[in-house]
Amino acid sequence: MMLKNFILIPLAAALSISACAEDKTTMTVKNTAPQQPTAKIEKTDEEWKALLTPEQYRVLRKDGTDAPNSQVYKEFKKQGEGTYYCAGCKTELFTSKTKFDSRCGWPSFYDPSKAKNIKISTDYNLGYARTEVSCVNCDGHLGHVFEGEGFDTPTDQRYCINGTALLFVPGPVDAATAQSDKKTTASTEKK
Ligand SMILES: [Zn+2]
Repeated sequence: MMLKNFILIPLAAALSISACAEDKTTMTVKNTAPQQPTAKIEKTDEEWKALLTPEQYRVLRKDGTDAPNSQVYKEFKKQGEGTYYCAGCKTELFTSKTKFDSRCGWPSFYDPSKAKNIKISTDYNLGYARTEVSCVNCDGHLGHVFEGEGFDTPTDQRYCINGTALLFVPGPVDAATAQSDKKTTASTEKK
């Protein structure tokens, strides 16, 4: 009996340590740029569910949309200089340099910071063609891009992005890296 207790206690301690180490990603804002994926991210639905919050899963993996003027949008409006990454795989997508107030109720950018990280495709989810914007590395749904709306921005494009799909890291944005390379990744397939 005594011997059994001696064995069980260290085992329980070891188990609780490993449970802590496997805590879900908390998406806590840190002042360091996350490491960029070097290859396509392939995960099963179950793996995404374990990694993302239910809202992130709904938006990124199930083509969901944030409610207009949501809490996450209110926070977005208050955010200062910094960089926006994919909440699913940490790929860099936008910076605060191209953020503008379109008054549409969703985060708006007139250009991506890393255009090659943006995948463009057409969706007919509402019965008409819209240009869907997704993350090139994890295929996560980000939002849509609209053109020719007459906003006084350098591109006349509005990347209408779900705040839930973004991870914000505050900090100075390098002017050189804020320049888009102007080439988004085109895709004709619809996931
Ligand atoms: Zn991604």
